[in-house]
Amino acid sequence: MAEKKFYALMPLPYDYDALAPAMSKELLTLHHDKHHAGYVKGLNALLEKLDKARKEGTDLDMKAVAKEYSFHFGGNLLHERFWTNMAPPSKGAGGKPGGKIGTVIDDHFGSFDRFKKEFSAVANSVEGSGWAVLGFCRHTDRPILFQIEKHNVNVNPAMGILLVLDVWEHAYYVDYKNDRAKFVENWWNVVNWPEVEKRLPI
Ligand code: FE
Repeated sequence: MAEKKFYALMPLPYDYDALAPAMSKELLTLHHDKHHAGYVKGLNALLEKLDKARKEGTDLDMKAVAKEYSFHFGGNLLHERFWTNMAPPSKGAGGKPGGKIGTVIDDHFGSFDRFKKEFSAVANSVEGSGWAVLGFCRHTDRPILFQIEKHNVNVNPAMGILLVLDVWEHAYYVDYKNDRAKFVENWWNVVNWPEVEKRLPI
């Protein structure tokens, strides 16, 4: 039998202080090394538990395993997307996108400002812990905004994900306390538009 594989924590694609002042070194370090790492650990612990139970022939509460798996899997995947859809302002991140993604946004939202306003409203209105998402609907070739609750609730399986914003409190509390709106406003300065464009399926 082939050796069984496990999940690995993706390293940040930039230095821990590279997104300042939108996100401080302390915030990014905690977010990546503790919170994101926690989901990877959670996934691997579940895999080990499943391997062990299957080997020993013991029963598990499969409803609980499936729910926990979904939560950690979503957490890992969304954080990987989040890190890559940001870049340091010194590397040209933020601002109004050009290229194909700029055209898609202008065509469907009317203007970049309108898109920003709608996306920010989606992010600011997430109840509790969750994500704001710019997806792409292949049925209509339209960019669609939606929210993911926690890491795995309200996910649309057929919707490609272009851009995500983590609005769990752990994503901003160290720098912004409870001012999520300010965090969202500053986050626009670190959006990696070329990376977002790469995920466009058209
Ligand atoms: Fe997070």
